[in-house]
Amino acid sequence: MKLIIAKSAGVCFGVKRAMDIAREAAQKYPKDLYTLGPLIHNPQAVEFLDKLGVKGKDQIEHIPRGTVIFRSHGVSLKDLMKTRKKGLRIIDATCPIVKRAQLYAKYLHRHGYDLLIVGDAQHPEVEAIRSYIPEGVDVVEDVEASQRLGPWEKLGMIAQTTQSFSLFKEVVAVCLERAKELRVFNTICHATTIRQMEAVEIAKKVDCMIVIGGYNSGNTQRLAAICRDIQPHTYHIETAQELRPRWLARREKIGLTAGASTPSWIIKEVELKVRRLKNIRGP
Ligand code: SF4
Repeated sequence: MKLIIAKSAGVCFGVKRAMDIAREAAQKYPKDLYTLGPLIHNPQAVEFLDKLGVKGKDQIEHIPRGTVIFRSHGVSLKDLMKTRKKGLRIIDATCPIVKRAQLYAKYLHRHGYDLLIVGDAQHPEVEAIRSYIPEGVDVVEDVEASQRLGPWEKLGMIAQTTQSFSLFKEVVAVCLERAKELRVFNTICHATTIRQMEAVEIAKKVDCMIVIGGYNSGNTQRLAAICRDIQPHTYHIETAQELRPRWLARREKIGLTAGASTPSWIIKEVELKVRRLKNIRGP
């Protein structure tokens, strides 16, 4: 029996930073403190913040007064304007790597490139990046969608920071044949690439893979999909309670990884449950 836990599992630098900012803000502004949307895509962490007095609101209109924390995914231009107009205090917890992607998008637009973002159009990070570019932006989630676009005179490309690097490369290859001039900025977060590469290596070695993270977390969903391509016995769970003993029955080697917004206490609980069910001693 063996349990392999990814070293890269769990909270990334940007999420840790956002959580720290929120905790500090809760001490400084104990009243009327809000986040615009969930601070991170993990219901358990959001519940924890709620207990500290950091309340999640979906719209600026629902925030009457006080302070608003912008989450690690960034904020759209429209919401930024509304926040300023309302006179709310702003604490910006946008991850610097997401900010960098926003800057590249603006740079490409300023220099006359149409912009193609490889990512999930509905994800708040992509929605925010898009909002700063008035026109000429497309978003594709797969290679097939990119094949239906173009041709372009000048095309600039970036990726959602948690996108799969191999997909980004494939879409770039398609666009290279459809654009006279192509400028590519690799905006994928290094932590994401490392996490995905490590997950691939572990999934190859085990006969069951557990991926922990919010069901609303895009990067966790992607991580689970990458693992499932290699190891069909891959299970995406949010908490230890969801782990089913039958998934582990007759499995000799179990792998464990987690998305960028999964708190360490949840990973530990899952680890302990796997060890208990399979009688594996730690570490
Ligand atoms: S995954 Fe990367 S880009 Fe996203 S919040 Fe974490 S560090 Fe920032």
